[in-house]
Amino acid sequence: MIYYSTENRLETASLQQAVIKGLAPDKGLYMPQEIKVLAQSFFDNIPNISLQDIAKEIAQSFFVDDIPITQLNNIVSDALNFKIPIIEVEHDIYALELFHGPTFAFKDVGARFMARMLSYFVKAEDHDTINVLVATSGDTGSAVANGFLGVDGINVFVLYPSGKVSNIQEAQFTTLGQNITAIEVDGTFDDCQALVKAAFMDKDLNTKMNLTSANSINVARFLPQSFYYFHAYAQLLKLGVNKKVIISVPSGNLGNLTAGLFAKQMGLPIERFISANNSNDILYKYLNDGKYLPKPSVQTIANAMDVGDPSNFARITSLFNHCHEDITSQISGYRYNDKEISNAINQVFKNTGYLLDPHGACAYMAAKSDKRRDETAIFLATAHPAKFKDVVEDSIKHTIDIPSELLAFMNKERVTKKISPEYQSLENILMEVGG
Ligand SMILES: *Cc1c(COP(=O)(O)O)cnc(C)c1O
Repeated sequence: MIYYSTENRLETASLQQAVIKGLAPDKGLYMPQEIKVLAQSFFDNIPNISLQDIAKEIAQSFFVDDIPITQLNNIVSDALNFKIPIIEVEHDIYALELFHGPTFAFKDVGARFMARMLSYFVKAEDHDTINVLVATSGDTGSAVANGFLGVDGINVFVLYPSGKVSNIQEAQFTTLGQNITAIEVDGTFDDCQALVKAAFMDKDLNTKMNLTSANSINVARFLPQSFYYFHAYAQLLKLGVNKKVIISVPSGNLGNLTAGLFAKQMGLPIERFISANNSNDILYKYLNDGKYLPKPSVQTIANAMDVGDPSNFARITSLFNHCHEDITSQISGYRYNDKEISNAINQVFKNTGYLLDPHGACAYMAAKSDKRRDETAIFLATAHPAKFKDVVEDSIKHTIDIPSELLAFMNKERVTKKISPEYQSLENILMEVGG
């Protein structure tokens, strides 16, 4: 499969090049040249197909020209070794729980898949060490660091905004050691993302070391996120649901939403999507007035969605040929402030006993507001509530238990390298560790 840049259709790469580079040389994001519609027989039979087998089918439709089928299947089963259950929270509203992986957030799916795919390419080619740079507002760093921990031939650098990630999130990427370096930036998430971009644009540095990104700009991280949309649909059918299905996605960098749009293009019968923002409402505003106006991110209690210039927006516009009307016919937008998020966590817990995390809470509210009578809504529950213990406890005025796997991170020693948000400081660390 050929991958082209969202900036220029003629700027192309192989899968291997796209995964190893991350971003196209013209700063565009890579898109697969073809999105194959899956066979009707696959959809007819889907309630009987396991999560792993669904994922293999979809992985093959994108990657089988580039990775032999046996290895590809191994990558899938290795990466997706946990369950993704669907839970009825109230009548016609279901949570798809994407947080049963090792770091308790949905990014485990993409991060684990990407680590295994990259490692396959490094081995198959006898490639030099690859340095993965990742800017995180919390969950990406933990998922990527844990997904890549101990993988031969790959160094990971996690850049995070000082004091702006939760205690548990920080523990998940600063306590690992081995091939993982945590870099604490005195700035915002957008500063971290800008530093990573600057490193990719530094020609001199790129001749000295191989750099790639594990943010959802990387096709190996973003495309596997389409797997669970099919699995969600399969589980609904199994439960006997036969209404139209809509899916509500809590949105930050828009990788998750874009993967859903891809699933629909592959033939998955999703009626439409809902995008739920926190106060970082760039997509919400774009959907309303057609103007895309990035701005500095503001800190919220759903911090994995604190994004002021969502990178996968370029993929969405590319998918719909920049037609605002087509985009709004597929996606409706909502936004919620911290107070609304906190109230929703409390209300849903009181009314149903279901505990939402702040991100899932945004998606839940949007699903509830937008769902019509003839529709069933799935909202993506992207993180375990215990990952946001303080926020959740403040909301429900009650203490909650932390799973022992999460507690284990909390008790280890944290090691970080502190820098100011200047490129030179990052370059020094990269050269020292990865050069
Ligand atoms: C990353 C993240 C999001 C946002 O996903 P995008 O793909 O960046 O839009 C939502 N919720 C949680 C818990 C996350 O970690």
